Amino acid sequence: MKRHSFFTRRQRAVCGCLYTHTATVREREKLAKRVSHRLLIFQRITNHITERRFLRNKKIYYLKITVKGWKHMLHIGNHISSAKGFEAMGKHALKLKADTFGFFTRNPRGSRVKALDMEDIEKFVHLLQENGFAPIVAHAPYTLNPCAKEERVLSFAKLAMEEDLKRLEYIPGNYYNFHPGSHVGQGKEVGIQKIAQILNEVLFEGQKTKVLLETMAGKGSEVGSSFEEIREILDRVSRKQYMGVCLDTCHVWDAGYDIVAHLDEVLSEFDRVIGLSNLCAIHLNDSQNPMGSHKDRHAPIGKGYIGFEALSRITNHPALRHLPFILETPHEKDEEWALEIQTLREAWKE
Ligand SMILES: [Zn+2]
Ligand SMILES: [Zn+2]
Repeated sequence: MKRHSFFTRRQRAVCGCLYTHTATVREREKLAKRVSHRLLIFQRITNHITERRFLRNKKIYYLKITVKGWKHMLHIGNHISSAKGFEAMGKHALKLKADTFGFFTRNPRGSRVKALDMEDIEKFVHLLQENGFAPIVAHAPYTLNPCAKEERVLSFAKLAMEEDLKRLEYIPGNYYNFHPGSHVGQGKEVGIQKIAQILNEVLFEGQKTKVLLETMAGKGSEVGSSFEEIREILDRVSRKQYMGVCLDTCHVWDAGYDIVAHLDEVLSEFDRVIGLSNLCAIHLNDSQNPMGSHKDRHAPIGKGYIGFEALSRITNHPALRHLPFILETPHEKDEEWALEIQTLREAWKE
């Protein structure tokens, strides 16, 4: 029996989704109870079992766990500037009605990091808890290339990841997302080896952050534009329990996965190759280019080739709806992100 489960850590709004091939109602109920017990709120739970056909040939049962009196909601936010510190980011997110967000761990062009302000961190962690944030998704700088050819670039990647992960220990239970990088002519196989090697060097026992590999558009010599490549990297990492995947909708579309007309098939493929239980977050972006273009040019939600309907099907999909969705859409003004958040929330069915 294959089973995936995910529960948010939220206090204000908890929803769970779990799916299984188990055929009998009794077995499914038992499974639901076992999982809900882990939430320690067992007595407050009512079980709703919904059945749905998801994969072509297999029947998958969705078990939706509803907690009485707690509100379900879409976990969504945008990428926020970290220039003014951690607490400022949290307040900024709240202003936009976000309950998760993305941010660069350091200047996107790389460079050194500021010393941590522990008071700021404390206030930030408190703010996240108080407001029931879903996991937040830190982003490594774009300049970080863990499969570079040059030794200097490689050692920066390792150093930056090591340092970022150490800092994120103060904000436990969140995600650290990075681009697998570009192999710059060394070939995908070498690229994959190098990425896995760095991960094997920087991951450490007991760490409180999950490291996410991002699916890429396949621009230039980018590694990670196919689910198989992501799988190959994961296969070579020894501390697999600290690894996960972040799916970028613009990137997979640009890489040639038809999430507009064949979302169920793409997700089945993801499940077959990587496993949906490894999917931890979504970068929700529209694309300026047609499917398979390998361009990686994000468009505002509904203003690109993917379109609002397809993106809203993604936020509503039973296998994805519980994940944190991060908008990396090209906007200038806060109101524009706030509007995207509001519109997607309105299109989310409880
Ligand atoms: Zn992304
Ligand atoms: Zn991108």
